[in-house]
Amino acid sequence: MAAVLSSRLLERQAARAVPKLSERQQRTQEARLAEAVPSLGAAYAHARARWMGDPVLRLAGVPIITECYRSAERQDELYRQGRSKPGPIVTYKRGGESKHNRLPCPALDVAFLLADGSMSWSGLLLSKFARLMKAADARVRWGGDWPRFTDRPHFEV
Ligand SMILES: [Zn+2]
Repeated sequence: MAAVLSSRLLERQAARAVPKLSERQQRTQEARLAEAVPSLGAAYAHARARWMGDPVLRLAGVPIITECYRSAERQDELYRQGRSKPGPIVTYKRGGESKHNRLPCPALDVAFLLADGSMSWSGLLLSKFARLMKAADARVRWGGDWPRFTDRPHFEV
């Protein structure tokens, strides 16, 4: 009886600890996913479903798309960071050169929403998610595999 009770308690705590997206965040996620080329969008949806079906992974954080399409102007703005503007270099692509600048978009960036509402770019979580993305579609390339400019949040086809 005690064991049943405590496992129920654990279940309830686990359910409470799974990070939940607000309605607005959900709409933003749907809009970003809709920007992706079908093969990449399907791979992401598949990988996310498998992630959320795993009782351990879903407690670690909920995958979210931080960016899919970005305009050439925004790409130029990112390019200036670490060059003519302060901050670390985040891209080697100028406006129009990145896969993020195409629509439908063959690239998307992923992070994880944590239970406390903060975001994580954990290399461990991203590498686990990358395995699911590549399993979903062998055409998916992960920025974490690139030798020169490792870009762990980045996925593309
Ligand atoms: Zn990217």
